[in-house]
Amino acid sequence: MSDCLFCKIIAGQIPGAIVHQDDTLVAFTDINPQAPLHVLIVPRRHIASLNDLASEDDGLVGSMLRRAAALAKEHGYDQRGYRTVFNTNREAGQTVFHIHLHLLAGRPLAWPPG
Ligand code: 5GP
Ligand code: ZN
Repeated sequence: MSDCLFCKIIAGQIPGAIVHQDDTLVAFTDINPQAPLHVLIVPRRHIASLNDLASEDDGLVGSMLRRAAALAKEHGYDQRGYRTVFNTNREAGQTVFHIHLHLLAGRPLAWPPG
């Protein structure tokens, strides 16, 4: 999508601190990190939100979650703990409408979330 911020980061049109990329996913550091490790795991294909997933995307979503676990391990947080979050639409605070999985780690994360 031409006016999508994350599509532009994926295409290299605007810079992103990329920590992983493969054929289907790109992961980059959040510009406004909420924890010592705050990475966004993003499919290359533009999908607006969780509401727009189809059954054919089950493998893609699985790979996003498995990538989060791999990145958490790579950064030494697999045993300490980490949080994975999809925000969907207004009341959950979604601001970028290209689906992304937040990976947060490196500090105690309160529950319930705000
Ligand atoms: P959401 O609120 O939609 O769940 O998450 C969007 C995230 O994208 C926010 O945590 C925000 O800090 C991050 N973000 C917004 N603009 C940029 C940007 O230009 N680059 C990067 N790396 N992250 C961004
Ligand atoms: Zn997009």
